Amino acid sequence: MDYNGTVTPNVVKELANCTGCGACVNICVHNAIKMYWIEGFLYPRINMSSCMKCGQCHRICPANQGSGNTYYDNRHKPPRAYAVQVLDEDVRAVSSSGGVFSQLADQILKAGGAVYGVQYTPEFKTAHTCVTDSASLGRLRGSKYLQSEMGLAMREAKTMLLTGQLVLFSGTPCQIGGLKSYLGKGFDNLFCVDIVCHGVPSPLVWEKYLAYRMKNAESKYMPTRVNMRSKKSGWTRYSYSMEIAFDNGNVYLKHNRKDPYMSCFASDICLRESCYHCQYRKVEHEAADLTLADFWGVEKQHLEMDDNKGTSLVLIHTEKGAELLQQCTGFIKMVKTDINRAVAANQGALQQPLQSRHRLKLEFMHLVNESSFELAYRKMIRKLYFVKVLDKFKNFLKRDNA
Ligand SMILES: Cc1cc2nc3c(=O)[nH]c(=O)nc-3n(C[C@H](O)[C@H](O)[C@H](O)COP(=O)(O)OP(=O)(O)OC[C@H]3O[C@@H](n4cnc5c(N)ncnc54)[C@H](O)[C@@H]3O)c2cc1C
Repeated sequence: MDYNGTVTPNVVKELANCTGCGACVNICVHNAIKMYWIEGFLYPRINMSSCMKCGQCHRICPANQGSGNTYYDNRHKPPRAYAVQVLDEDVRAVSSSGGVFSQLADQILKAGGAVYGVQYTPEFKTAHTCVTDSASLGRLRGSKYLQSEMGLAMREAKTMLLTGQLVLFSGTPCQIGGLKSYLGKGFDNLFCVDIVCHGVPSPLVWEKYLAYRMKNAESKYMPTRVNMRSKKSGWTRYSYSMEIAFDNGNVYLKHNRKDPYMSCFASDICLRESCYHCQYRKVEHEAADLTLADFWGVEKQHLEMDDNKGTSLVLIHTEKGAELLQQCTGFIKMVKTDINRAVAANQGALQQPLQSRHRLKLEFMHLVNESSFELAYRKMIRKLYFVKVLDKFKNFLKRDNA
């Protein structure tokens, strides 16, 4: 029985709150829960003929619990904040911001531990995976701006944790929230690292965008490498690029503001429904030991770190997180920073949920689903421009009347 006394095929009480973290799939020992595609995102559904009606999935679902979770350790409130750059320039060059994730992960690997994070599959979908050696760490490096498939990664990680192995688990705040809820208790050998998350775009939109890029490269060419945060044209939010290499040697390199996929991501038009009222868009990330972000505005606060090659903002939530970062001394450049200024410069993702669903989202997703990315984007681009102008005008009127 669940908390309401009934078990229904939908794990989540309100489907719009489901983050797709996959905790329910992982907790079900009868493997009765599978993920299904709805409007370009994966949602869990219980196969009632295999279900033993234990209610575990309903109980541990963070979306059913509201924000009152109590399974978290002692927290630093507010978290301590640092500007960080990894000293290995080759690693920083291929990381999204200052490359601190790689150094944290390396510390765990050197101690014989395992690191969970997100990799591209051979088809350039994204999935959580486990890495146990430094040579494979490159697979997890770099931001993949679409929702990753969790699969059974939480269950595998738990098996390792129970044997005493060190584990670093990384992901979006909702995935880390899901992991902690699934585990149900603290583990001294677990380090949780989440990212500041603007919201996760739909894997379907990415798949169709990639097909469009391949069409432009004359169909027969397959992508061999994707970097959504290429620093070839600089690192700042105004200069980084989308880079896709094809097997004929061609490379597509486009400024993020001019690339159609990155424009869709930045405009919030293709985010998961739960992202529009995300409970994790705040400074205190209750499930993580450390939170990683881009240190936007570093040029205004730490001129000595402003080299346009990437700086990470690191938020320390627990003593365990502080100790792991401390172990990186000698491999990183690290400067204490004013958390309020850093949060303000990060613009929103650390401050408040998005106000509401993008008003063109449903139409855009429907078009992508029914036709091609190209067609959907072309139809939406004019409307997007119109909406932007309209919003600016409304804000102007509001300011004027205030
Ligand atoms: C969907 C998404 C939205 C983001 N939004 C913001 C934002 O609004 N503001 C901001 O400052 N930073 C944001 N970030 C974080 C930022 O892009 C960098 O990931 C972060 O600064 C760490 O960079 P790094 O150089 O230390 O390491 P990198 O090597 O660049 O980061 C790798 C880490 O990111 C994780 N990761 C990559 N893709 C995904 C994914 N799809 N889902 C879950 N985890 C993933 C990996 O598992 C690994 O832990 C976002 C990241 C993602 C994936």
